[in-house]
Amino acid sequence: MIALTQLNRMPADEFVAAVGSLFEHSPWVAQCAAPLRPFASAIGLHRAMCDAVMQAPEERQLALIRAHPELAGRAALKGELTAASTGEQKGAGLSACSADQLHRLRSLNFEYRSRFGFPFVLAVKGHTPDSVIAALAERVTHDQNDERTVALSEICRIARFRVADLVDEPLGDAIMAMADDLATMSETNDALTCSYLTPTHRATAARIRDFMLAAGLTAHIDAVGNVVGRLDGDGRSGKRVLTGSHYDTVINAGKYDGRLGVVLPIAVAGWLRRSGVKLGYTLEILGFAEEEGVRFKSTFLGSRAVAGRFDSSVLGSLDKAGVTLREAIVAAGHDVAAIPAIARDPAEVACFVEVHIEQGPVLLEASAPVGVVTRIAGSLRSMVTITGMPGHAGTVPMALRHDAAAAAAEIVLAVERRCSAEPGVVGTVGKLEVPGGAVNVIPGRCELSIDIRSGEDALRDAADADVSAEILNIAKRRGVTATQTRVLDAASVACTPALEEAWAASALRVTGRPAPRLASGAGHDAMMMASLTGIGMLFVRCGNGGISHHPDETMSAGDADVAARVFVDFLQHVQPA
Ligand SMILES: [Zn+2]
Repeated sequence: MIALTQLNRMPADEFVAAVGSLFEHSPWVAQCAAPLRPFASAIGLHRAMCDAVMQAPEERQLALIRAHPELAGRAALKGELTAASTGEQKGAGLSACSADQLHRLRSLNFEYRSRFGFPFVLAVKGHTPDSVIAALAERVTHDQNDERTVALSEICRIARFRVADLVDEPLGDAIMAMADDLATMSETNDALTCSYLTPTHRATAARIRDFMLAAGLTAHIDAVGNVVGRLDGDGRSGKRVLTGSHYDTVINAGKYDGRLGVVLPIAVAGWLRRSGVKLGYTLEILGFAEEEGVRFKSTFLGSRAVAGRFDSSVLGSLDKAGVTLREAIVAAGHDVAAIPAIARDPAEVACFVEVHIEQGPVLLEASAPVGVVTRIAGSLRSMVTITGMPGHAGTVPMALRHDAAAAAAEIVLAVERRCSAEPGVVGTVGKLEVPGGAVNVIPGRCELSIDIRSGEDALRDAADADVSAEILNIAKRRGVTATQTRVLDAASVACTPALEEAWAASALRVTGRPAPRLASGAGHDAMMMASLTGIGMLFVRCGNGGISHHPDETMSAGDADVAARVFVDFLQHVQPA
């Protein structure tokens, strides 16, 4: 491998010699990228080369496609392929096709070449002979221009896999580059939104799968859209260590919430493989398809399926356009009936660990790059409806009013007062509305939400009970009625003590000082996985005052690097029973 820093510094001709082979027999692609150095990441280098390909004149693009060998073709038989192509074709089992498969490939290849005038090109990593044949049979029906674009994008994918084996860079930079790259795909302009099974979401899943394949994992997308990667160990333990987080986002999201816990383990797994380090167990990396519940309110859908808690009643949920969850899954090419089989057998799972950006300011305040999570807070949520007496804003004297909004204002302050009095408890009124309100009307009705959380359920319940009693006092004093409806009661989940200690020991070995321990105020996939197996979580420092679920959410490559090294240490020390 060559260090990216070295590639960035060397004379242009040396650079072209070093990376020219990323695009088959086409060093001109590297020549186009050379003056654009320095690149911040291997992904940046790859993107610059792909841009050069996509912007090249048509004749040059066709020459690039024609520079590729036919899959399982004459050149492969005669041993005339480049070293890279030979390895790739062998990896997909193309050197060991059955006679039938070979016959079908040959005839489709011939049909394809006659139709388009160039050979069929496919990034075969992750393919089997049958899936290659299926892709070829589908693509041979394309129209000429579409197919040229598809062929070029496959050439770019081939280069992505070759870059990963050629270019070395610090883990932190690789992690940040993957998060940046995923954030370029969005449902909204100028903001990151990735909700369940939209075209953006499916493209994101495909990219994550490519990241996994590039790292040397086997990878597939399961029936709910989870991206699942696997790094086999040396077989000492029959158990699996699971890790992961979600790749869907809220509307107008940050780049790291969820995704960090997918791309960091991928970077680490790639490093382990390249370094020849074998774990004693199989490591499975899960990119959960759905955690935020944006499109169908199907929160934790991905981890629920893996934990064996998939609830088929959710299939009828509708999105804003009236599409059911079931229809969305089928339209994405998945089989709804296959979802229950995603559930893992608890006997085969050693633990689930999740790396996540903190989404708060605690580590920032403590000047610590990583922290160990002790528990995940449960939350109690309710909606309160206050009914008062509407009236004319000019004619009703103050003493005779029963103003619903004024009562609501007192409730907001009561929540703040009660939750401030108890360390470890937080309370929020996030929704506050005067339905149909007008400037000149005394509010007759007001609706608000209350969300109270704590790592300790007893503290949370006590605060919630006090707030409920205070709501009744306020209502009585003001002559309004208040009804409170519970909408969520999720118990807090403790992290497994042994895993908490293992994270703490790894953080201490890597950073030389004890990592802060903190409860998570936000819910995470690990909560759902706790019903399957023991869980542990590592938090990574959040910049910008700890802001999250917002485009200003940020973290540093240095912290990503520390977290990756802590993760490597953890994986090497954890002992699956
Ligand atoms: Zn998250």
